[in-house]
Amino acid sequence: MRILVIEDEAKVASFIRRGLEAEGYRVDIAPDGEVGLTQAFDHEYDLVILDGMLPKRDGLSVLQEMRRHKLRVPVLMLTARDTVADKVAGLDRGADDYLTKPFAFEELLARIRALLRRGSPLSPASLSVADLKLDLISHAVSRAGTRIELTAKEFALLEFFLRQPGRVLSRAIIAQHVWGVDFDTFTNVIDVYVNYLRKKIDAGFPTKLIHTVRGVGYVIKEPEE
Ligand code: CA
Repeated sequence: MRILVIEDEAKVASFIRRGLEAEGYRVDIAPDGEVGLTQAFDHEYDLVILDGMLPKRDGLSVLQEMRRHKLRVPVLMLTARDTVADKVAGLDRGADDYLTKPFAFEELLARIRALLRRGSPLSPASLSVADLKLDLISHAVSRAGTRIELTAKEFALLEFFLRQPGRVLSRAIIAQHVWGVDFDTFTNVIDVYVNYLRKKIDAGFPTKLIHTVRGVGYVIKEPEE
């Protein structure tokens, strides 16, 4: 899951980033409204956290521009003032939710989960292939009913696979989406992590779910009959 944080206060931005990364989200930060808008159009985000007061272009104007161009990504607005007029203005322009500063990180997290859940049909509460199940809300992973412990990165990688079962994913695509880096700078790490995942979700089970497609990449799929 990739989240864009458009926030000019460096302290707040890094507080949000640290917390979300610890939960396994990938986070990009844009320091003003112009950069934020460009980033939002240039990348596929699952969610945007948008501060109201921003240099160059304020939050409401960023939001309006996104919606005008049919960018439907869920937007959670942050505001310093808890006034009804502010909330109405944001919701009118297409914000999905609102949070007043200062906020508790746990509340931000709960709202993010709620938005991601209802955000789009691509954001169901859980993902599965065969007897492997990943719960997007509790972050629990199990195979054939047995709980499997994953690190945040392994979870993100497995989630990426499970969002597109049957599709062969190249290492470049995985590098971009799960690690946010270009493949050139990043070769063996993906193979290493896929092996970690295999040890946890495939080893010890009669059928394997993660398959190597030689010269192309990896795919997760239902076992063939
Ligand atoms: Ca601000």
